[in-house]
Amino acid sequence: MTVEMVESTLDPAVAVLNEVVPAGEPWMGTVRKGEVFRILDLEGNQAVDTLFYNAADSEERYSASNTIRAQANLYLTSGTRLMSNRGNVMLDIVADTCGRHDTLGGACSAESNTVRYAIEKRHMHSCRDNFLAALARADFGITKRDLPSNINFFMNVPVTPAGQLTFADGISAPGRYVEMRAAMDVVVLISNCPQLNNPCNAYNPTPIRLMVWNSARGQSP
Ligand SMILES: [Zn+2]
Repeated sequence: MTVEMVESTLDPAVAVLNEVVPAGEPWMGTVRKGEVFRILDLEGNQAVDTLFYNAADSEERYSASNTIRAQANLYLTSGTRLMSNRGNVMLDIVADTCGRHDTLGGACSAESNTVRYAIEKRHMHSCRDNFLAALARADFGITKRDLPSNINFFMNVPVTPAGQLTFADGISAPGRYVEMRAAMDVVVLISNCPQLNNPCNAYNPTPIRLMVWNSARGQSP
């Protein structure tokens, strides 16, 4: 697998947000147009299920199919423009030291845990439940039916030549990160995946760090 690593020039000391999301927890917040948002995989091989909504109009949201079509590639990395259901650029991935992120595998849920693993996994904590818990707290006006297909940052879901999806061992490592610049004000909805049954996160959910830089102040000298 050949991937291009693009490192960031931003200085963590001047980030306006610097927050750790514990293993298995949801997070929701706003990133303003022009700001740069970083997700850092603190311990490696964590899957970060992520959705974006236009902060001014929640009917506009991330679209996996428009993103794949816009770049004519299945994997997300630096240079990828994250597109909305209305064909607008929501964020541009500007740095990436992991090299590949998935937008095909979707989020784990009580239902998928049952189908993929075992009926007794039904009550295990899932990303879909995390998304719904964060939405219920936020009162952003979106519900279960407003959850489109998400991005899985740091998750490795290679597609075989025959077109099959394979959930493979993670390719991320401690300290790897992905960074994106917002092209509009966006609400970010994250489930720091609590999954205990999938090799993508080595069966071990771990914390992540989130950082935001203002456009003007982020550059180190
Ligand atoms: Zn999950």
